[in-house]
Amino acid sequence: MLHTRTFTSNIFKLQNAEHLSLYRSIFLCQEVKQKSDQSREIYGSSDSKMAEIIYNSDHIQLQQSLRKIIDQEINPYVDQWEKDGHFPAKTVFKKLGSAGFLGVTKPTDYGGLGLDFTYSVAMAEELGNINCGGVPMAIGVQTDMATPALARFGSDKLKKEFLEPSISGDSVACLGVSEVGAGSDVANINTRGSRQGDDLIINGGKMWITNGTQADWMCLLANTGEQKQQHKNKSLICLPMNLPGITIAKKIDKMGMRCSDTAQIYFEDVRVPRSHIIGEEGKGFVYQMLQFQEERLYAAAVLISPLENIIRETAKYTLQREAFGKPLLSNQVIHFRLAELETEIELLRSLLYRTVALYIAGNDVTKLASMCKLKSGRLARELIDSCLQYWGGMGFTNDVLVSRLYRDFRLISIGGGADEVMLSVICKYLNILPK
Ligand SMILES: Cc1cc2nc3c(=O)[nH]c(=O)nc-3n(C[C@H](O)[C@H](O)[C@H](O)COP(=O)(O)OP(=O)(O)OC[C@H]3O[C@@H](n4cnc5c(N)ncnc54)[C@H](O)[C@@H]3O)c2cc1C
Repeated sequence: MLHTRTFTSNIFKLQNAEHLSLYRSIFLCQEVKQKSDQSREIYGSSDSKMAEIIYNSDHIQLQQSLRKIIDQEINPYVDQWEKDGHFPAKTVFKKLGSAGFLGVTKPTDYGGLGLDFTYSVAMAEELGNINCGGVPMAIGVQTDMATPALARFGSDKLKKEFLEPSISGDSVACLGVSEVGAGSDVANINTRGSRQGDDLIINGGKMWITNGTQADWMCLLANTGEQKQQHKNKSLICLPMNLPGITIAKKIDKMGMRCSDTAQIYFEDVRVPRSHIIGEEGKGFVYQMLQFQEERLYAAAVLISPLENIIRETAKYTLQREAFGKPLLSNQVIHFRLAELETEIELLRSLLYRTVALYIAGNDVTKLASMCKLKSGRLARELIDSCLQYWGGMGFTNDVLVSRLYRDFRLISIGGGADEVMLSVICKYLNILPK
């Protein structure tokens, strides 16, 4: 059953044999007296009934099938991918696509399952059980960041050419919004699509593009109209990544999300048909803001399982690790802190589920989705930092997952709209943002 599953402590130990022996020598082989409470099982406090607010047995079944792919096809390889600084998106996406996981909310006419957004959230929660942040982020780009606008507003021809293969896992998608000079300030992008007959000529560049070195196409935000009207001069364009004039300038070396490739990309006189514009020309900014809603809810959903796992594994570790003649967990400052952090996760989960319930009922959830994104970034930083502290020196090594997630999830407060951008949106809705 969802959230009451007992996770093995193996999830927190990296698989490499050398690491395991180091881990054992420091952690497992210490002389630990088996006190009665040391053999007790550590439970998460999540109430499975909570999930029923937005999930039914179909959601749980979807999660269970996805879990099999994660356990068999993804988690055994994650350590190697992290070392390589790369994961094979095409191979992984093909496996997920063949099983239907890349189009759960997409129209059935193009190979999707035609389900509502609660299924995307259920899927994101399950993807949180992947032993890194990079792979879930790359999958999220494919399912909830680069394709929602195309599915909603794109022409039949564009959907056949770009959406269908993205759902089946035959194409890798990326989202091109951020630039060297414009990240938080999306309206200020400089990449331009100039009209020439029935074509657009694209010039400019994009920065921080997830899946950028492997992508077959980009959902590109570019200025196609008058420069002055920043909210009305943009279009989203399906851009095949094999066109002449596209250069992958570099793969960016990052502190976290190591196995996910992040690229800087240049466009020099790239010719693309105007019919590749998604929906109406000039509505790209609005479409992208809508697309951001799902990205932000995805970011919150994908965090819940890893945060819960970290608390559970920290409790297990501190129960076995002794200092001053008693388990670390016996110190009230530690077990109270874990209880407090678990409470914070439940608050995030409640906010997420409420927002998703309102979203699928057709409400504008811009404020609530921004709150979900803000809270998840803040909580990831606070929770993982607190837990890492209780792992002591082990927490500072690359041998435990808590240190990887400490690095990976630092991104949540920056990417897809930084905390301060979320605060500005919330202020706007509260009508307290200075004009
Ligand atoms: C690993 C990774 C993957 C990414 N993937 C993608 C992708 O696939 N596609 C894509 O388009 N982009 C992607 N991004 C870009 C990401 O969305 C941007 O980094 C983010 O929007 C912030 O933009 P910036 O880096 O230019 O920061 P800036 O805009 O320079 O802002 C820097 C900091 O200033 C602060 N700040 C900004 N505005 C305000 C304000 N109004 N008030 C107060 N403080 C403020 C914030 O703390 C912010 O972090 C990715 C980034 C990373 C690191």
